[in-house]
Amino acid sequence: MSNLAIDGGAPVRSAPLPYGRQTIDEEDIAAVTEALRSDFLTTGPRIESFERAFGEVVSAPFAVAVSNGTAALHCAMHALRIGPGDEVIVPTVTFVASANCVLYQGARPVLVDVQPQTLLIDPAEVERKITRHTKAIIAVDFAGQPCDYEALRAIAQQHGIGLVADACHATGAALDGRAVGTLADLSVFSFHPVKHVTSGEGGMITTADAEAAMRMRRFRHHGMSRPQGAPAWSYEVADLGNNYRLTDFQSALGEQQLRHLSKWVTRRQQIAETYDQALLARPELTVLEKRPGVHHAYHLYVVRLRPEALRVDRDQVLAALRAEGILATLHYPPVHLQPLYRNKVGTHLGQCPVAEEATRWIFSLPIFPTMTNADQGDVLTALDKVLAAYRR
Ligand SMILES: *Cc1c(COP(=O)(O)O)cnc(C)c1O
Repeated sequence: MSNLAIDGGAPVRSAPLPYGRQTIDEEDIAAVTEALRSDFLTTGPRIESFERAFGEVVSAPFAVAVSNGTAALHCAMHALRIGPGDEVIVPTVTFVASANCVLYQGARPVLVDVQPQTLLIDPAEVERKITRHTKAIIAVDFAGQPCDYEALRAIAQQHGIGLVADACHATGAALDGRAVGTLADLSVFSFHPVKHVTSGEGGMITTADAEAAMRMRRFRHHGMSRPQGAPAWSYEVADLGNNYRLTDFQSALGEQQLRHLSKWVTRRQQIAETYDQALLARPELTVLEKRPGVHHAYHLYVVRLRPEALRVDRDQVLAALRAEGILATLHYPPVHLQPLYRNKVGTHLGQCPVAEEATRWIFSLPIFPTMTNADQGDVLTALDKVLAAYRR
């Protein structure tokens, strides 16, 4: 008989521990309040101020703030002039938004497999999938670890195509001393509350390309622009745009949060290090590999069960952990197996074998800066309890 909470036993925690959550302090609240009392709720000075601050943090010449990370991805597709007939290569282990942005532009997402040890896009797979229709690659810094941008940039250059970093997991990360935000033609960030810094909802694109930045600024604002010298009340619409604007009070929150970024990334790294040490010797699971030269931002801490060591599947382990009060979860079911992609894009089972196998066994443990050592102790206690009960 097990004493697992899922079987009626006492849970490790009575207050559930989420896998991620925001940190808001009085200064954040004051910054938002000040914005609310100002003349501008939107399209005011705080947006530019946030953009400047973010651009400085990642050493990028241009930063364009938008309403969320998904809008940021869409802006990136517009900046690269992705359209019908084009193909864009996207890894299948990612949040579905990474691929949906290609569909928004009427283009074709080509979903490719990942490397087994990191779940990052496999440059060799990218090479294999390039055709004369390929216009861009979207690399995803899964869990907060930058991809192999050296290899990806070489491929992009050789074929004359765009390289986008979906860096929504990787704010504050770096590779060989270069900040994420400068490693691709366009880098996309999200400020959703589970991400490293939040503006409630929000997103940003960084680039060194002035024209791309201008195209994205127009795209977030209905495609509107004012020709030089034209009167203040006039505008011109050359491209179809959207309303993807971030508000001033969100920008105030985002800029305020940015001050904590490096400290919060350090705390995430500490938590990851403790998990690494504690899980090293566990025969029931492995952890993802960290590539050399990586300053990891640890949006997620992902573990992978070893099926040969267990009597149950991943979903049973997740359900049992959650019953113990540890809200571990799955990132992500592979995009190519979603009905939308099977039906609209023609993807199929067997297309990305590494991802298909890995995503049967992975899950994410709680990690966020204000998680205490005691919280992490609860995670490890619950994991021990569950794995002991289900060990083969
Ligand atoms: C969070 C996230 C997005 C979307 O960001 P939103 O701000 O939620 O729209 C896109 N891609 C990845 C990999 C993400 O994690």
